[in-house]
Amino acid sequence: GQCVAACPVNAINEGDNSLKFLRDLSTPGKVVITQMAPAVRVALGEAFGFEAGVNIEKKINGALRMLGVDFVFDTTWAADLTIMEEATEFQQRLEAFFKGDDNVRLPILTSCCPAWVKFIEQSYPDMLDVPSTVKSPMQIFSTIAKDIWAKEKGYKRDEITTVAIMPCLAKKYEASRDEFSRGDNYDTDYVITTRELIKILKETEIDLNAVEEEEFDNPLGEYSGAGIIFGRTGGVIEAATRSTIEMITGERIDNIEFEALRGWDGFRSCDLTIGHIELRIGIAHGLEEAKKMLDKIRSGEEFYHAIEIMACKGGCIGGGGQPKAIKKQETLEKRAQGLNNIDVASEYRRSHENPQVLAIYEKYLDYPLSRKAHELLHTKYFPKIKTHR
Ligand code: SF4
Repeated sequence: GQCVAACPVNAINEGDNSLKFLRDLSTPGKVVITQMAPAVRVALGEAFGFEAGVNIEKKINGALRMLGVDFVFDTTWAADLTIMEEATEFQQRLEAFFKGDDNVRLPILTSCCPAWVKFIEQSYPDMLDVPSTVKSPMQIFSTIAKDIWAKEKGYKRDEITTVAIMPCLAKKYEASRDEFSRGDNYDTDYVITTRELIKILKETEIDLNAVEEEEFDNPLGEYSGAGIIFGRTGGVIEAATRSTIEMITGERIDNIEFEALRGWDGFRSCDLTIGHIELRIGIAHGLEEAKKMLDKIRSGEEFYHAIEIMACKGGCIGGGGQPKAIKKQETLEKRAQGLNNIDVASEYRRSHENPQVLAIYEKYLDYPLSRKAHELLHTKYFPKIKTHR
């Protein structure tokens, strides 16, 4: 129906997991933890009379606890970990490139959109060394939750149910990829979309207007402004660039709102100069636009140091699992502005300054791209034969 039609790769069976979620919440002894993607908090409120773009994360936290969720966490926390790894990879490739190493593979590509990853596996298998191998924030969150957090709490891996609240239909497919499971136990047990959570709240008669605001649980709840802009087009590469540039120069830069990377053109080439570093960055949202960009890269007509591709128009704020908007562009712009406002107001605006992220490296992961980080935070891509499921 409508949902499958909205799926950018037409490969997703939208299994509605609402009932499963409610069942798990009422099963004694089950420990249910949630994570929520950045884009959800600036859109879900639209179904309860809030203006698009208003950040209602604390109300969602309150509502999830009313439903019986044991620990309410945030995907954005893991977005900062994604950036730590991606920015370090980007830094290493750039430094080699600036030294004249001909073997270095550029552009580097951010890889948190599963619809996009599937698209490159199917249609550009010769370019599979372009995406960063870092897992998406959703998958990093779930790995850390099950392999580190659960142990600390004294739970076995299979005692925890990790539920991801996502703006996205393709995330359901990503969660079910074999490489993200241990036997039958998937890192992300299942995904519920923003629209499914709206339906659950309506059916359980929880009115967000009346719900008390509550904080996320910690330590998987604190995030930076860089993590939050993941939800809009251009945001992931902006977040990565904030860290990469400071890692290369060793200096703190004042203006970290890179206007050159912002905007709404479906495919844009952006030139960014910071100090003595000049970068050319490609950004596309929508797979048709992505195709144009990849063809230009493949033919040598264009060169970029890094690219960001999101399958949905506007990025995840426009995901197939989000509330449908009548004035689409206006709503997308408000949601994007909502994320930018959170960024501006955040205590930390760079992923590499998120204290909880630094703490987890210190305690468990050593440093970005370490052996342990590779084991837990990275993945592989596979050329795929096109199938019509
Ligand atoms: Fe999902 Fe769309 Fe975001 Fe890609 S851009 S992760 S398909 S919501």
